Amino acid sequence: MQKTPTNKDIECCVYCPTLCLSRCPVGRASGNVGLSPQSKQLSVWRIRKHLVEPSINTLAPAHHCLDCLACRELCDHNINVPANLAAARIELARQAGQLVPAEACRYDEEAAWARLRGMAPSWRRVDQCQALLVPGLEMLREENTDLLEALFRTLDRLGDLVVGVTRDSVLECGHHPYALGHHELAEEAARTSRKRFQRYSKVVFASPHCASFVRLKWPEAGLNLDKQYATLLEFLGRRIDFNRAGFYNRKVTYHDPCHFGRHLGLYQLPRDILKWATNSRAVEMLYTRERSLCCGGGYPVPEVAPQLASGIAAALMQEALATGAEELVIACAQCRSLLQGLPGGLPVRHILEILAEVEP
Ligand code: SF4
Ligand code: SF4
Repeated sequence: MQKTPTNKDIECCVYCPTLCLSRCPVGRASGNVGLSPQSKQLSVWRIRKHLVEPSINTLAPAHHCLDCLACRELCDHNINVPANLAAARIELARQAGQLVPAEACRYDEEAAWARLRGMAPSWRRVDQCQALLVPGLEMLREENTDLLEALFRTLDRLGDLVVGVTRDSVLECGHHPYALGHHELAEEAARTSRKRFQRYSKVVFASPHCASFVRLKWPEAGLNLDKQYATLLEFLGRRIDFNRAGFYNRKVTYHDPCHFGRHLGLYQLPRDILKWATNSRAVEMLYTRERSLCCGGGYPVPEVAPQLASGIAAALMQEALATGAEELVIACAQCRSLLQGLPGGLPVRHILEILAEVEP
């Protein structure tokens, strides 16, 4: 995992006329060019060049990034701004202090396991299983218990017989502490998880954050991917008989989660699933696929600037409303938490809630 920013990349941004300015949801929602991708890189450059004192304040702009990768779409130099900013949060934390304390990285695995165990059918709660389900910490939050129920109903209705849950299902992949600047915690979590995951022939991630972190960041830490680490969407997609008739009679639009979309390139499969389920193509938003807007849920923004995260979610909801769709479909529990219940917004449904309605 990258622990120090890349000088070449930072300097490319510092001397750039901010070509990607229009793509940054943080800059757009805050109306603050001081939070543009270029300005965030500049804030890191100024600390590293000893032009300003390292402090929580001077390092704060580096925490206002969603890891959405939207800026890279307009960058002629293919700079990965979020990876540099995440590395800067790690590198400079010792001098500047931590904006987000280590305690914020810890989540209650026992409570999460109790919730998961309570929702899983008894035959899926086994000591050993062929495919381990890892819902991710967002889906394991209390407010998303109904999503867990929809997930298990979907697995049952699609005839799955191999997915199970064990205590290993609630392990942290390392993404959350990494995004918050706690590198040691992230590596420890990643190493522990990988060791435990060795027991299963396949691991299925429901969370886009976990899936992209494991596939893209673990190898950077020397953790080779010697197992099948699948996203839940890919896993379910292989179990759907696309020749069957659809069953969901609503006009929907689909939001690409950044970590399924720009990070992993998983654009077409959710659209194919929705086309099958609704007998119709999802209506597309103006900014879609590679250009889609973030929901505001990318770490660490919800922790350091929750109001800004809500403003970013509201901007995405306006895009969804403009399509004339009846529902906004998402594929990430974090997106749902940000988008659900926005005043005047569309009903928000996780794709699992739709799939859970298919006839067995
Ligand atoms: S990411 Fe690319 S376009 Fe954006 S400021 Fe940096 S160099 Fe410029
Ligand atoms: S990754 Fe997203 S939030 Fe971060 S600088 Fe780029 S566009 Fe802005």
